[in-house]
Amino acid sequence: MRDINEIYIDGAFVTPHGSERFQLFNPTTEQAIGAVRLGDVEDARAAIAAAKRALPAWSQTSKEERIVLLRRFHDVVAARFDDQLDAIVEEYGAPKSRAGWMVNMAATAFLEAAETLEAYDFNQTIGRADVRMMPLGVVAAITPWNSNASFICGKMAMAIAAGCTIVIKPSEMSAIQTRIVTEALHEAGAPAGLFNIVTGRGDVVGAEFASHPDVAKVTFTGSTAVGRSILRSAAETMKRVTLELGGKGPQIILDDADLDEAIPVVVASGFMNSGQACVAGTRVLVPERRMAETLARLKAEVEAVRAGDPTNPEVSVGPMVSRKQWDRVQSYLKLGQEEGATLLVGGEGRPEGLERGWFVQPTVFANVTNDMRIAREEIFGPVLSVIGYATEEDAIAIANDTTYGLQSYVLSSDPVRARRVAARLEAGRVVINGAPHEPLAPFGGFKQSGIGRERGVVGLEAHLEPKAILG
Ligand code: NAD
Repeated sequence: MRDINEIYIDGAFVTPHGSERFQLFNPTTEQAIGAVRLGDVEDARAAIAAAKRALPAWSQTSKEERIVLLRRFHDVVAARFDDQLDAIVEEYGAPKSRAGWMVNMAATAFLEAAETLEAYDFNQTIGRADVRMMPLGVVAAITPWNSNASFICGKMAMAIAAGCTIVIKPSEMSAIQTRIVTEALHEAGAPAGLFNIVTGRGDVVGAEFASHPDVAKVTFTGSTAVGRSILRSAAETMKRVTLELGGKGPQIILDDADLDEAIPVVVASGFMNSGQACVAGTRVLVPERRMAETLARLKAEVEAVRAGDPTNPEVSVGPMVSRKQWDRVQSYLKLGQEEGATLLVGGEGRPEGLERGWFVQPTVFANVTNDMRIAREEIFGPVLSVIGYATEEDAIAIANDTTYGLQSYVLSSDPVRARRVAARLEAGRVVINGAPHEPLAPFGGFKQSGIGRERGVVGLEAHLEPKAILG
């Protein structure tokens, strides 16, 4: 059993003022694996005060000094790769053989920020004006449990690269990963108060961060519902916000697609992180004239997906993170049938032979229409909805008929056509034929998938305030 009893404020591990304990579970075994003591409002305020004290000195550092520290952060976080990987397997059941990229993203975020800084000019000239890009101030980050460490590090890297200091409230469900990453970051020997990490309840520590007058910006990744409440709190003191929220990504299979290549990509994009990914492509748009053969291939591909023990290298779908999440997915599996969709593979209940653990069956619904709730709401599990379309025009209209707009997918043998379709999709990112991640490209959502962008220059500038000096 692990007991995590400290938070990180002002360059040191300290006992929180808060005394509530939150139980941690292994979703594969449903067994308690430890507890974390949560910070409270007093701890949140102490963290903000420390970040505020550290701001004057840090905001004056040169970009070269910041680059040195960012590289050090990379090295110390990368050195704990194995521990982090074990933690995400234990804490939320991420399939071990496929979760390395998420762990890598935590460390590489610091290198990406360093690279962005190297090429960035904080002093620009526009006409007769000198334009200085000034750090915003104290930044507050609030992060979700899925890929916890990569969000902590990604948000921290860009904030400190910009000359800001930061307070971070990670999800209480991922306290083990948070502890490992905090230990690593501590080793880098950063100035006290530069970064502060307070694990606590969202409606306590998170809400304090989102409303405190000394916080200049909130950068949040999580659900659209919580994002909305953060935006409301931020309005009071006009905080800048970056919101990375939910998604209901369409995967458009164009009628020229090579199904042998497309179907494995579609399934991998749909079941990414066991379906617990904001960027999962959960609506599969299929040309009616190729529906029968597409469904047959999709069925075979999903039937071959192995759900189970996340340490087994053949497993690509692990358990849901919590009982609550399991119940939520089950309710959608029931709802889909009530709404008139056809179960092609999977359905309610547990996969055969998995009596323990919060496992759900990898599922595909066919005959889905885009007005059904299973096509409109984020399920956050390994559940795909197949929607038929008649023409390319039709496919684009269905893809865009959603309140979300995070990541969309196009599958086609014709690159020119795929780009033409991509250009018309209302989404912050469009991935053609399973193209690899591009870390410095802007990431974020259209519509209710969020506000603002992270990564690269756009992500850096989201922590800066331009000042024009004339004369
Ligand atoms: P969540 O919104 O429940 O929680 C996210 C964080 O917000 C947690 O740290 C939580 O404690 C905190 N929080 C909760 N209530 C709060 C409040 N009132 N004020 C301030 N903070 C509060 O989300 P989750 O269940 O942890 O994560 C899953 C969601 O995150 C999904 O909707 C998913 O799509 C989204 N997500 C988005 C991205 C993206 O980059 N767009 C990435 C990953 C996850």
